[in-house]
Amino acid sequence: MIPFLDLSKINKRFENEFKSVFNSFLDSGYYILGSHVKAFEEEFASYCGVSHCVGVGNGLDALRLILEGYIILGHLKKGDEVLVASNTYIATILAIKQVGLVPKLVESESVTHNFNLEELASLISEKTKAILPVHLYGQLSPMSKILALAKSKNLLVIEDAAQAHGATNENGTKAGALADAAGFSFYPSKNLGALGDAGAVTTNNEQLADVIKKLRNYGTSSKYVNEYVGINSRLDELQAAILRKKLPSLDQDNLMRIEIAKKYLKYVNNKHIKLPSFRYKNDHVFHLFVIRVEDRDKFLTHFEAHEIGTLIHYPIAPHQQKALLEYSDLHFPVTEKIQKQLVSIPISPVLSEKDVNFIISVLNSYH
Ligand SMILES: *Cc1c(COP(=O)(O)O)cnc(C)c1O
Repeated sequence: MIPFLDLSKINKRFENEFKSVFNSFLDSGYYILGSHVKAFEEEFASYCGVSHCVGVGNGLDALRLILEGYIILGHLKKGDEVLVASNTYIATILAIKQVGLVPKLVESESVTHNFNLEELASLISEKTKAILPVHLYGQLSPMSKILALAKSKNLLVIEDAAQAHGATNENGTKAGALADAAGFSFYPSKNLGALGDAGAVTTNNEQLADVIKKLRNYGTSSKYVNEYVGINSRLDELQAAILRKKLPSLDQDNLMRIEIAKKYLKYVNNKHIKLPSFRYKNDHVFHLFVIRVEDRDKFLTHFEAHEIGTLIHYPIAPHQQKALLEYSDLHFPVTEKIQKQLVSIPISPVLSEKDVNFIISVLNSYH
């Protein structure tokens, strides 16, 4: 049996470090917004190559607080439109909606699963004020094109980097440093995962970082002085301590994912299986390895018979979800077609060579 993702094996590697940091955490008596959150914010900002990082409760809140921060700073106002991928995880879209902005869904492109750039440009109107690209499955969105378009139309660009910790463009710039601001999730299954919920915002905009620091903590500017109608979405001190122990291994973990992806791409040779694209060296950190098959039920039965775990990211497109009924009349032919063919197969820094080879043989024997 090969599980889709073995989280306990991933975290077991840090067991001794986690235990010792827990003991000192317990003894410290300091459990909220303490020294670990502050240190992690500095370390993660430095890792991403930005001047500010603000730790928050989860990835959804990271995106919501960026947008809310821009509303407070007067760069966005309720009712403004934000362009977002029609094939993203629903959180990207919910974040926009929940702060009173209007998500405008954009058709995807069938090779990279990113924005269809022509459709993106054609959807820009007077009301459009921001673009929120997602680095889906760990692969960077075509940022230079998106940024050029945004610049010509005076739009903000906010990255959903929840699946792309450490992904690096051809100039060496990392996810989180590619636009005006970025939201990260450290949900346990992400490339950098906590042992619970956690998230962060990265930005070079000091004003924005300051507002988000207040917003995440009830809009507090100094103890019991409330400047904004904030929320409670602080990065948990213990999760920050855990993330500090894991961050130094992120690049190595990503390299192991890339090595496995390269093996899949090299040795899987089956006309019934469409493999993902891979452009530069590190612009894809393979949070997920997503293939496409025409007859998905048959493929899943084949994998099940060989006891290999799979998942589908995502089985229902956002505009077809009950939660987003207002989009139910829209059609995105590429997103809808691809969504019926997607299958994510195992990939992780702890997947053994033997398991990778077995998965390759099972992929090659599918017909
Ligand atoms: C995981 C994820 C989120 C949300 O992160 P949470 O920490 O679960 O709130 C947002 N966007 C994308 C693309 C994600 O994969």
